[in-house]
Amino acid sequence: MGEQIIAICNCGLEKKLSFGGGLFTFREIEYFPAYCSECNDVVQYNLKSETLTCPICKSSKIRTYKDENLKGGLSKKIITSSFDNVLYDCSYKCPKCHEMSMRFYQTGLLFD
Ligand SMILES: [Zn+2]
Ligand SMILES: [Zn+2]
Repeated sequence: MGEQIIAICNCGLEKKLSFGGGLFTFREIEYFPAYCSECNDVVQYNLKSETLTCPICKSSKIRTYKDENLKGGLSKKIITSSFDNVLYDCSYKCPKCHEMSMRFYQTGLLFD
C-alpha cells in the first residue's frame, strides 16, 4: 500500500508526494522522495527506475532522501517506510532554502 506524504519547510516549501508502491504495482513502483538540485525541489523518485534521474527535469543531479548527507539529525522514530526504505522523524535538507529545516509528515491518504 502506498500513501501520501507531505514535505514542509519553514521557508514556505510545501510539497505533497506519493510514497511507496501499490498493492499490485510494488514490483514496478516504489516512490521515495528525492532532492533535485536542478529543480530546487523535492521530487517523487521511483526507486525501481533503472537510472537515478529526476522525473521532472531528467537531470542526474538528484539524491534520494536515504542519503545520510541530506539528514539534519539522528532519529530512530520512523515517519513511514516501504520495505527497507525509511523516512525518519528528523530534519532533512530543503532543496529550496538549503537549510536542514524540512520535515516529512504523513497526510493519512492512501493509494493502492
Ligand atoms: Zn529535477
Ligand atoms: Zn526550506
